[in-house]
Amino acid sequence: MKVKINGYTQDLVGKCVINNKTYKVPNTISEEVVEVDINKTTNKCRLIKVIESSPKRIKVKCPIYEKCGGCKLLHIDYHEQNVIKTNEVKAIFKNAGFKEKVNDIIGMEKPFNYRNKNQVVFGVDEKNKIISGFYEENSHKIVNFTTCLVQDEVSDKIVQVIKELMEKFRISAYNEQKKRGLIKHVMVKRSKALNETMVVIVTAEKVFPGSNNFVKALLARCKEITTVIQNINPKQTTHVLGDAEVVLYGKGYIHDILMGMKFKISSKSFYQINPIQTKKLYEAAISSAKLSKQDIILDAYSGVGTIGICASPNVQKVISVELEKSAHMDAIINAKLNNIKNVHFYCDDATRFINNLAIKKERIDVVIMDPPRKGSDSSFLKAVLKLKPRKVIYISCDPHTQINDLKYLINDYKIIYIQPVDMFPQTEHIENIVTLERKA
Ligand code: SAH
Repeated sequence: MKVKINGYTQDLVGKCVINNKTYKVPNTISEEVVEVDINKTTNKCRLIKVIESSPKRIKVKCPIYEKCGGCKLLHIDYHEQNVIKTNEVKAIFKNAGFKEKVNDIIGMEKPFNYRNKNQVVFGVDEKNKIISGFYEENSHKIVNFTTCLVQDEVSDKIVQVIKELMEKFRISAYNEQKKRGLIKHVMVKRSKALNETMVVIVTAEKVFPGSNNFVKALLARCKEITTVIQNINPKQTTHVLGDAEVVLYGKGYIHDILMGMKFKISSKSFYQINPIQTKKLYEAAISSAKLSKQDIILDAYSGVGTIGICASPNVQKVISVELEKSAHMDAIINAKLNNIKNVHFYCDDATRFINNLAIKKERIDVVIMDPPRKGSDSSFLKAVLKLKPRKVIYISCDPHTQINDLKYLINDYKIIYIQPVDMFPQTEHIENIVTLERKA
């Protein structure tokens, strides 16, 4: 049937209305007239043909776009992607009753191959040939690919060499159905700034026969690699990495440079995946705080300490809290690497930690918070109200959860800055900074 696409869903998929019901139609653009059909069993709407195409439509250069769930906006001109994302943030704030101005999203000059972390799953096809790629959306079927438009090119090449060498050295890929085979995933983290590259080979068991020769051959083919790690993950989980690790070559971590500071990156710690945009994100967030040399700031959900360390030269003291042990340990090293002495690191649940600060009536002038996608929680935000910081900077990778959290603060704080940043071009994800100031 013929329908008109009328705006986007929360996850930026084109939508249409049929018999008073709203349907998502992947791979469409608002205002397009398209032919669709509805699957009777799944009740999902599928694009058959674009009848009246949008001027914003561009040719998709990815052969697995329809199957892979990684990118959702490849068919839309990049400028328009940014318009759509800014409009989505505007709608979220307007629907929640906020009238403050939303700035246009800060986009990327070259919105491809921006990821510094590539992660691919390994498996076998029907003919038992090794494949590597992403899971099909909502499934455990692997879509094989050799290059990805948003991943780092060198890292993509390394994955292909690993695949070739596995055939040559007869090293098996893990077969999820038969629960047999060795290599489950490969993760490559790379610093373009320093040309350091970490390869993490995730295996189903500890025994990795011939690993020495395999790593030697890999290093001979890929000069960019500076360290190789075997991560052992025997469990059937959605987590890629297991607990145990063996360093097969090099120092077991890499460094990167961000805002003139040096950071240690290990396999398990969170590190922002788009370094070009991270700089813009941090600069915008930090400058919106108008920090002074007397300020004491709390950097909550701090990861490897990046925001707090970057802000530290402008303030008296930074208190950083992070739950994950490996990120916390990296953060301590990162402060030392940059000879920073005014950042204090705590490994704790941010909610428990901030409540303790509130009980002790600690002085905090500015709270910077950057929680995971699910957002923070009411107890954390109520503790913020007790601490009465002058400003709160809330960085979020999901403005839909951010808006719920902001409701707790809004009696005592007014929003002075809303700035989306495009950390994830070609995908539906939106990063957003909201800066709040305490009402007089
Ligand atoms: N601010 C950092 C990291 C942001 S990602 C940066 O810009 O790189 C969110 C971080 O919150 C992750 O490092 C995650 O491990 C941490 N985290 C998740 N739940 C937490 C909790 N309850 N308390 C403290 N940290 C938490």
